[in-house]
This record gives sequence, structure tokens and C-alpha cells, in this order.
Amino acid sequence: MSDPFVVVGGDAAGLSAASKCRRTDPERDVVVFEKGEWISYAHCGTPYFVKGEVDRLDQLLSLSPDEAEERGIDLRRGHEVVAVDADAETVTVESEDTTFEQPYGDLLIATGARAVSDPIEGASLDGVFTLHGLDHAAAIRAYLTPPAAFDVADLGGGDALDEPAVLRYGELTPPETVAVVGGGYVGVEMAEAFEAWGLDVHVFQRSELLVPGFGETVGEEVARALREAGVTLHLGEEVVRLRGDDGRVAGLVCESGAELAVDAALVGIGIRPNTGLLEGTPVELGGSGAVATDAYGETNVDGIFAAGDVAEMPQTVTGDPTWDPLGLPANRAGRAIGATVAGDPTPTGAVANTAMVKAFDLGCGRTGILDHDRAREAGFDPVSKTITAGSRSGYYPGAAETTVTLVADRDTGRLLGGSIVGTDRAAVRIDTVATALGGEMSVAELERQDLGYAPPFSPVWDPVLVAAKVLNGSLD
Ligand code: FAD
Repeated sequence: MSDPFVVVGGDAAGLSAASKCRRTDPERDVVVFEKGEWISYAHCGTPYFVKGEVDRLDQLLSLSPDEAEERGIDLRRGHEVVAVDADAETVTVESEDTTFEQPYGDLLIATGARAVSDPIEGASLDGVFTLHGLDHAAAIRAYLTPPAAFDVADLGGGDALDEPAVLRYGELTPPETVAVVGGGYVGVEMAEAFEAWGLDVHVFQRSELLVPGFGETVGEEVARALREAGVTLHLGEEVVRLRGDDGRVAGLVCESGAELAVDAALVGIGIRPNTGLLEGTPVELGGSGAVATDAYGETNVDGIFAAGDVAEMPQTVTGDPTWDPLGLPANRAGRAIGATVAGDPTPTGAVANTAMVKAFDLGCGRTGILDHDRAREAGFDPVSKTITAGSRSGYYPGAAETTVTLVADRDTGRLLGGSIVGTDRAAVRIDTVATALGGEMSVAELERQDLGYAPPFSPVWDPVLVAAKVLNGSLD
């Protein structure tokens, strides 16, 4: 093994890269080190596993260890890379019983991100969770399941499951009141999951707006949907402390002095890129704290690449580096890097920060630049319009209001971003806006796109076209 492609991290970015490299150059040695036991798992499905909509953890896996080996990938689970020596071109790897140096020809850092909870005192109490990985999801579902109905085999975790933690939670009396700390997309998805178990759900959000990255219109609609579903919102309340009773969470305290008795808490206040491995190496981080990369995902050090939640990528509208810790950018950048190191140079592409979230019956989407201050910082003169239009022909069953906001640059008419919210397949309509951003379209060009029309799917004028027409009119 003279010139191996070594990958650190065995999930979306890492295994996409490893698989693509082997497919492009079947002769190349590819080694993947994963510190945990799970590989190729869908974080994104974990709220729905907790809710019970997805039955088993193994439904969230896309590639098994055997399938990875069949692709010719030398997969080492339970192996943590603890150091990188960029001069010697080696990494130091620790497993349960050994530590060794692994030489590399090319190296990919695909170590992802971690959930942050430390600003909140008491976050290590029993009954306090973050949701970052399948073991977290399994522990939460075990806690929610009454002990008489709990069977660890039902979780579908197999050998990879952290069984001691899950068994311990499976024996506890299920909680009745839960605090969701943080009203971002994970908090909103988890509020829905807890509500499905019949809990008294309280969401605490430091700002006045839920899912702030989706803008004001969407945030207000999400708040309405949560309230209608029976969730209590505490907006403008910052949780500073979780207090315990005999090691288990019993309540929370806000900066305002407000308190609430709870017997479970989900902390979803953000994530940070796992860059610790690169400390002391010449690999540079960008302004976001994630690894700075070029158009091919390569860092400032030749032969060292970074992809996924640990790395920055160029933003579609501005071209500036952005940190966009989401699934498609991770898979796509990993795949591109796999091709590049196998001899087929492939750009990772730009990201428009496109995202979707479900809040009970509501679907929400966002893409590009919505925030006017951010648009001004990027040198634009932003103008936006919000419209509400039908999702299908008015006479066709199922038609529902869809609210679209579009933002454009006043001088050039260039489309900068948009958001969509509604109950009838609204979120997926954001892909039209994202595609227009990718094509650097003006609002006038978007207005002239030939989108599909048939009563069951869309009115003659798709809500995105209505928004483009109104915004374009305001630019004239
Ligand atoms: P990860 O998936 O975090 O994988 C990194 C891997 O590296 C981990 O397995 C870790 O154990 C391993 N590792 C770390 N350090 C080392 C080391 N030193 N040595 C060896 N191994 C190491 N995105 C969307 O686009 N849509 C969604 O709906 C969505 N929902 C989400 C819901 C939740 C609850 C969460 C947590 C995330 C969600 N995401 C969503 C984000 C998406 O899951 C991530 O963007 C994606 O998983 C990133 O992939 P990655 O490979 O970069 O990192």
C-alpha cells in the first residue's frame, strides 16, 4: 500500500469520497478510519426515528460495513485519527488495543461536526440530550418508551448500538414534560417528535423568531403551526441552566429568571466543525471556523482535502466561503474529491444554503441570501416581496395557500434568495428558486421560466412565478 487515499470519518462525505475513488480508479488503495461503530448513516432521519415514523435504526443506513468492503474500501471502525503530520504525510490512529502511524498519498478530513451544549450548565444530567448520531436517537426513544413496552431489539441497532446507554434509559419512567432548547430546525423537528409521544412540549428560543435562517415570514408561520399543535413557545427566553434531582434533570432556569419543571430536555443550540485534529498542522481554517478549501475541496496543504460539515465551500450568490453543514453538500463534495484524487479533477461546486424543514403540517424552504443586511455586506441593494398564492388550481381538492418571498438586487435585478412556506408540498418548490440562483438568473428571467401546470400539481402561475412577477414589477 504505497500511495493510499486515507479518509477520516465514515459517513456522508467520507464514504462518498471513498466509494467514488474506488469506482474511478479500482487500483487505488482506500482506507477509511471511523472512530465510532456506525457508518453511512442518515442523521437527517433521526427526528423521525424518535417520533416513531421510522421504525428501526437500520432503516437509516445506506451502506453496510460488508458493502463497503465489497467496494474494495479498507474500512476500520473503532479507529480514531488523533494526529496529522503533514510533513511526513502520516496520520496517527488509535484503536482499542493499538496506536499506529498510517502513511497517506492523499488525505480527506471528513470528521463532521458536533452538537454544542456546554454554554448551558447541567447539560450532562440524565434526561438531557443532544441529537447528533444514532446512539443519541436510540437513547431518546428508549427514554420515551414505557419500560414494559421496551425491547432493545426493536430499535434495530445491531452490534453498532451503544447498548448500555439505551438499556439504562429503557428502564426509566418516561418523561411527561420536555424542554426543547433552541428553535432551529432540529428543535422544530424534535418538538413534533415529542408531541407525537403525548408529552407537554415547551420550546425555548433566545430570539423572537423560530428557524431564523428561514426569515421572518417562515418563522412566524412555524410558530403558528407549533402553537396550533399544542406546543408552548417561550420566545425571547435564553435557557442558562438545567437543574437536577438525584442526577436526573428536574427543571430549567432562564436568564430572565423564569423557571420550568421538566423531566427531559433536548438541547439543539448549534453545532461546531470537528477541526481539533488539525490543531498544530499548517492546514488553515476559514472565517467560520471550518476548514478553508479551494474549488476542488483541497486545503492550503497539497494532498489534504476537507469535505462535509467540517469544511467551508463557496457560496453560490457571493462566491465567498460559507459553512453549510447539510447533507447534499457533504455527499457532493465527498464524491467530487473521490474523483479528483483518483485522477479525474472534479470541482465540489457551490452551495446556495438551500434548506428545508417540516413543522407538523407545514413545509418550509429557504435558499440564497434572505437577510438584507447580509445582502448589503455582499455589495447588493436588496429588495424583496412576499406573496401568497394557491398551490394547485383553486377548484382542485388539496389546494392550499403558499407564501413565497423573493429577494433581488435592485440595480441588476439579479435574484439573491427566497423562502417558501405552506402545507401543500411547499418546501420542494424552493428547488426552482435554488436552480435559478445556480443559473445566476435575474427575477425577469425567473418570471419567464416554463414551469409545469396541471390542476392537481400547480395553478397556471406557479407561486414562484407569481412572486417573480410581483418582485420584477417593483423593480421597473
Ligand atoms: P458526519 O455525518 O458528522 O460524519 C462524520 C464522521 O466522522 C462521524 O461518523 C464521526 O464519528 C467521524 N469522526 C469524527 N472525528 C473522527 C476522527 N478523529 N477519527 C475517525 N473518525 C472521526 N442535512 C440536510 O441536508 N437535511 C436534513 O434534513 C438534515 N437533518 C439533520 C438532522 C439532524 C438531527 C442532524 C444532526 C443533522 C441533519 N442534517 C441534515 C445534517 C447532515 O446530517 C450533515 O450535514 C451530514 O451528516 C454531514 O456529513 P459529514 O460526513 O460531513 O459528517
